[in-house]
Amino acid sequence: MSAFYREKVLSVRHWTDTLFSFTATRDTGFRFQNGQFAMIGLEVEGRPLLRAYSMASANHEEALEFFSIKVADGPLTSRLQRIKEGDTILVGRKATGTLIADNLIPGKRLLLLSTGTGLAPFASLIKDPDVYEKFESIVLVHGCRQVSELAYGEEVVAKLREDELFGPLLAEKLVYYPTVTREPFRNRGRITDLITSEQLFNDIGQPPLDIAGDRIMMCGSPAMLEELRQMFQARGFVEGSHSEPGHFVIEKAFVER
Ligand SMILES: Cc1cc2nc3c(=O)[nH]c(=O)nc-3n(C[C@H](O)[C@H](O)[C@H](O)COP(=O)(O)OP(=O)(O)OC[C@H]3O[C@@H](n4cnc5c(N)ncnc54)[C@H](O)[C@@H]3O)c2cc1C
Repeated sequence: MSAFYREKVLSVRHWTDTLFSFTATRDTGFRFQNGQFAMIGLEVEGRPLLRAYSMASANHEEALEFFSIKVADGPLTSRLQRIKEGDTILVGRKATGTLIADNLIPGKRLLLLSTGTGLAPFASLIKDPDVYEKFESIVLVHGCRQVSELAYGEEVVAKLREDELFGPLLAEKLVYYPTVTREPFRNRGRITDLITSEQLFNDIGQPPLDIAGDRIMMCGSPAMLEELRQMFQARGFVEGSHSEPGHFVIEKAFVER
């Protein structure tokens, strides 16, 4: 048995010069938990070229969806950005990752903190009915440099708000807070600053950070994650894992090479 599924690209959308998303067929045997990632990629000169990718689709959906960066000289994404409907992608059989609700101790509010393509696992998690059952409220924060980079996330949330099943859940529980650092926008600033200054909580009209009820998932640049980790740890929050659930869990959106 091959280590990969060979899936067909169903659609591709380019959001900016540096971001695109695509959907692909999903083998019925490919199981994952919402928030997890898998190795995906292309066959190049007869060999698999693979990178870690979070599933942006939920595990109850028939097709797979991914939200991707375009790195100009990146071995995979310089090629992947040219895929078209009908092309074949490789999807590793095993999904893994720490951004799963079971790695958190029970709480009331779930903060999903993301930058850039770090939104992807949360696009999956906000389509998980269990997450709405476990938490009284969910705050999805997506930080980008430019307004145009928010477009994919905005559409995911907007579509879900129109959904028959999820619409009422989102209306009751989900707050979506896009924020931008390099252009004028209704929400401005870096996630760390927005939390330390309590601006985020003022803007959404919710109480400030509280270890008793707040649980956190983070996915973004390694530098941003390190800053947030230190900030939460300084406030007594403990990192969770598969072996021991905690107050927060972290996944890198990419690694610096
Ligand atoms: C757990 C995990 C999950 C990931 N999920 C996704 C995902 O859902 N979508 C996605 O696009 N990428 C994701 N990545 C990054 C992905 O694995 C690749 O790095 C990316 O596709 C670029 O591949 P490449 O071969 O073109 O360049 P690489 O050689 O892999 O990367 C070159 C450089 O580009 C930068 N870079 C790479 N990926 C990103 C990114 N996403 N955002 C900003 N800068 C980046 C880094 O500085 C990196 O050193 C994930 C990485 C990890 C570790």
